[in-house]
Amino acid sequence: MWRSSIEQFARLHGLTLGQARQFQCTAEHLLARQDGGGDGRNNIVAACLVCNQRRHKRKLIPEPEAYRKLVRQRLSKGRWHMPRSLTIDARGADKGDK
Ligand SMILES: [Zn+2]
Repeated sequence: MWRSSIEQFARLHGLTLGQARQFQCTAEHLLARQDGGGDGRNNIVAACLVCNQRRHKRKLIPEPEAYRKLVRQRLSKGRWHMPRSLTIDARGADKGDK
């Protein structure tokens, strides 16, 4: 994720600025403000823009721990948004292209 330099993040991971935009670091409220969640540090975690939006756009907003599990399962199967350079690192090995 990037906070201040999208250009540097994009260059580092070989992304276009449009692709890099989705990895902007956001402050995600574990319990949404509209549901009474506060701005304290125990209710806010760092999340990329897309992950943050995807959780809150679901019909039934999953609990943070359930969402974390879902994201990790999908990441392990290569079915979640992630720069290729980070996906390879996260898996610990390059599965290579077909
Ligand atoms: Zn994300």
